[in-house]
Amino acid sequence: MRPTGDFLKATGDNGHNDEVVHRLRTIAEESPDLKEAAQVYAALLPLLYNAGLHVPPPSLTAEEARAKMECGRHLLDGLDLELDLQEMRALMLRLASSLEDCLLDNRIRLIVSAIHDERLDIAGLLSLAARGESDAIRLKAEERGLDHKLLKTLADNTLRPAFRAWHGQLSSLGDGVSWSRGTCYVCGAPPTLGELRDNNLVKHLRCGRCGADWQFRRIQCFFCGTEDHRSLRFLYIEDDKKQWRVEVCDACRGYLKVITTFSATSAPLLQAEDLATLHLDYAAQGQGYSRPGVQGTGSR
Ligand SMILES: [Zn+2]
Ligand SMILES: [Zn+2]
Repeated sequence: MRPTGDFLKATGDNGHNDEVVHRLRTIAEESPDLKEAAQVYAALLPLLYNAGLHVPPPSLTAEEARAKMECGRHLLDGLDLELDLQEMRALMLRLASSLEDCLLDNRIRLIVSAIHDERLDIAGLLSLAARGESDAIRLKAEERGLDHKLLKTLADNTLRPAFRAWHGQLSSLGDGVSWSRGTCYVCGAPPTLGELRDNNLVKHLRCGRCGADWQFRRIQCFFCGTEDHRSLRFLYIEDDKKQWRVEVCDACRGYLKVITTFSATSAPLLQAEDLATLHLDYAAQGQGYSRPGVQGTGSR
């Protein structure tokens, strides 16, 4: 990875950009080994907040939403989701070109030229990414001689502004409806982070794909659902500034990074916090735990 620009000079043109760029700058200063990844994020994330997509609200009434959630189905499940393909293609090209400027890597150059020359079936790729079908994306990429991880990263991030818009349109339909699952009640993705919040350390799960926030039982694995306290424990990881924790489950070998915070992390900051806690992924994975299907920015 060879980042080119100096994101420390970057200034955002709105509050979200400023907040995210400021956080990424702090991450780079505190963890020099994350500086290059932070630069990549600083190039990509503002493009996601300023995507300017037209995302029509899906048709869903409050009664339908309640009925769905009470059956354990997330709100977007089974809905017709409309996106403007030309807008999505243009966003994917902007993201890919920005990544190419940062990485100067032939794998991303090949993807840029495949999008540019319209050799990629963008609609098919995005619908696979929305359903989390990584194996099918890998096959699609290999048929065209493209790097499947980069292609999936691009597709996931291209969809992110639309998922955020759907969250904004639909999340209030979930108010007052109980949701005890460990996947997002809006989009169905696994949580990116857990938060232990306020003085009572109430546990919330946060979706990095759409930004959703939902309360979850303190002693329960979000992945396999076990509540057996003998299987659930924290790994405590300390650095010179603070103590971090990762919730691990010995029943399914999954893990969840958990941060302690007084208030909710803003949705635009979730990906930056995911990067800031990368050392926790290394610690958990080093002990044989894995992170089930989480969608990050993925440029690391
Ligand atoms: Zn979500
Ligand atoms: Zn588990």
